[in-house]
Amino acid sequence: MIRLDVRDYCQDCPKFEADVDRRIFTGPQGRIAETVVSCEWSDACREIHKMFEKQNDKCQGFMGPTF
Ligand code: SF4
Repeated sequence: MIRLDVRDYCQDCPKFEADVDRRIFTGPQGRIAETVVSCEWSDACREIHKMFEKQNDKCQGFMGPTF
């Protein structure tokens, strides 16, 4: 099986760097390969995305200054 593990916010990202994790299992039916392709920067971007979500939650309900 080959699986692509990227987030919605990764679509069209020019910084995508493929990080390939391949595991081989041997079972009664022979060798089975499991390959997952993710982005090398996924951990950092996940944390940044969480920070933006928290900031966005704090801004909910804020209608801006009234003059
Ligand atoms: S993990 Fe970050 S750098 Fe990688 S494709 Fe997604 S947004 Fe771009």
